[in-house]
This record gives sequence, structure tokens and C-alpha cells, in this order.
Amino acid sequence: MPKARVISPFRGQHDHDHCQVSAIETAEAECARKGLKLTELRRQVLEIIWSSHNPIGAYDILQQLQSKGHKPAPPTAYRALDFLVSAKLVHRLESMNAFIGCPSPEASHQCQFYICQHCGHTAELHSEAVAQAIESGAEQLGFIHNEPVIEVHGTCKACSKKEPS
Ligand SMILES: [Zn+2]
Ligand SMILES: [Zn+2]
Ligand SMILES: [Zn+2]
Repeated sequence: MPKARVISPFRGQHDHDHCQVSAIETAEAECARKGLKLTELRRQVLEIIWSSHNPIGAYDILQQLQSKGHKPAPPTAYRALDFLVSAKLVHRLESMNAFIGCPSPEASHQCQFYICQHCGHTAELHSEAVAQAIESGAEQLGFIHNEPVIEVHGTCKACSKKEPS
């Protein structure tokens, strides 16, 4: 089976400072390309989401905005979040009701998330084989699917090493 493409790797497997900077640059370029406006608030929300690879809930984002001295009304902050999701700069993880940045918004991809239940770190992969299996299943059922987001919970490499064997 062909290997999946790594869209976001696990912590310790990359330079996160670089990854944060490049994610924001990618977002700027993507908004410019689509004629969308990355307002100050939208950018702030995106930066908070990109501070780690741990999915973050809307309420925690709001709290972090406030701790940075911003006091947007909650609906305004939630609208900024909706914008980021619809611009594909951010993915929503349904099972956790949380958000995670996508470093590759320009590519249309069905993604799979591997979520560590110990440290919360989340990696994003794109497997063509998984995408095709979903396509063919939907076809078989005559089913029109939304963009599927697959969430796999478990233990990342770094956490599995910590556990007593
Ligand atoms: Zn990173
Ligand atoms: Zn993605
Ligand atoms: Zn972990």
C-alpha cells in the first residue's frame, strides 16, 4: 500500500517554530489567492491555534484572546473561527469539538488525524488509499459525502516510550 502523505507531523519530528511561521505565511498567501481578508482577529485566532499541534476548543481560544488583551464578543470570535474553517486554514475535529491548523490549505485533501490521548498532540496525514475507499463506499451506497475527517485516537511514539512496559 502506498505510504500516506504527512501533512502535519508529530511533535519532536519537526521544528515547530519554523512550522508556525510558515503556517501563517501560507494562510496569508491562501487568503490573498482567494481574495479573502485575514483580519487582525482572524490572524490572532489562527496564531493561537498554531501555538501547538494540540486541538483547542473555541472556549480556550476565547480565553487566550482575552489574556492577550483582546476582548472580542464571543460571537465575533466564533465567526473568525468559522471563517478559518471555511477557508480550510483550520480543521474541526468533531469528536473533540476542537480545532487544529492545516499547513496545507491549498491542497484539497481528505485527511486523517492521529490524536495522542496522552499528550494531545495530533498529526495529520493524507492517504490516497483511505480517500479512495471512502469514495467507492459512497458510490456503492449512492451517498453524497461531506469532506470526511477521520479521527484515530491512540498513543504517539514519544508517549509510548514513556510508558512502563
Ligand atoms: Zn509544528
Ligand atoms: Zn489539512
Ligand atoms: Zn503523545
